[in-house]
Amino acid sequence: MKIITLEEHYSNLEIIEENSKYGSPSYLNELDDDTLEFYNKMRNSNDALTDINDKRFKFMEEQKVDMQILSYTNPISDSVPKEEAIKMVKKANDYLYEIVNKYPQKFKAFATLPMSDPIEAAKELERCVKEYGFVGALISGTHNNKFYDDEEFLPIFAKAAELDVVISWHPEYIPAKIQQHYYFSNSYPKNIGMQFASAGFGWHLDVGIHITRLVLSGIFDKFPNLKFISGHWGEGIPFMIDRMDQIMKPSATGLKKKISDYFKENIYYTPSGILSSNQLEYMVKIFGANHILWALDYPYINFDKCSTYFLLDSNLTDEEKELIAYKNAERILHI
Ligand code: CA
Repeated sequence: MKIITLEEHYSNLEIIEENSKYGSPSYLNELDDDTLEFYNKMRNSNDALTDINDKRFKFMEEQKVDMQILSYTNPISDSVPKEEAIKMVKKANDYLYEIVNKYPQKFKAFATLPMSDPIEAAKELERCVKEYGFVGALISGTHNNKFYDDEEFLPIFAKAAELDVVISWHPEYIPAKIQQHYYFSNSYPKNIGMQFASAGFGWHLDVGIHITRLVLSGIFDKFPNLKFISGHWGEGIPFMIDRMDQIMKPSATGLKKKISDYFKENIYYTPSGILSSNQLEYMVKIFGANHILWALDYPYINFDKCSTYFLLDSNLTDEEKELIAYKNAERILHI
């Protein structure tokens, strides 16, 4: 069965280096030196990330992946001045285009956007879609501690709706104050606190909350054809939609529909490499197989089992498996 995976990362060494010239992103400013060193190691140590040859092709072969949708895992840091950020983003997308242009059957790409300038971000999205054939944009975390439900970011979502391309959401480190309050404790080691605050839990809820804020802002009433992709099986939100409907009714939110309607109609979900049968079955039951797409989160997750077997061996029907493996991706990303 053909397999298309959506959260497969790439980074360019030149972009990583240019980024680092401007210091740490704002969310790391309040951390002590030890913690900062840990973060920087985690962000930049993976050489498979910058590799587009042997390691990646071997992984794709082993996991039976026919096509990866590539994206930068590290966005341009919010410590980079606006004008420089715009230039760096263009260069980053140009590098990505070189790859998809060289291997058009193996790779497509999500654009990275200069979030410090929403007007320029919308223009860059249009450039990447129209000139480079990119299939959407990937947005990581927040920018200068701002969530993107703020009105100033509307041009980006308006452009995605106009171009009929998806916005894929990705976690990033969360502000130090929030990490301290919720995740660090004297009762367990600091490195556990760091993992709890980031990939072990905290940054996932951050994305789930971010998407919920956009739902509450009425973004999908403004742009009914706008589509989001939420990784890690929906970042914790699928278990809360009934409760949100119960408490935040349209009479209070002023939205045209129930909150769960937007999560079922406008939002699509991927496993991001969390190969859990229970999650898969739950998500298909709640959102339908036509709202689930495949993603392995290369190169961050190591698999000892082929992901295709995981999907093929599941209890889903053949039709459902095909939708998840590639048909939804082809339909939504216009591949
Ligand atoms: Ca990822």
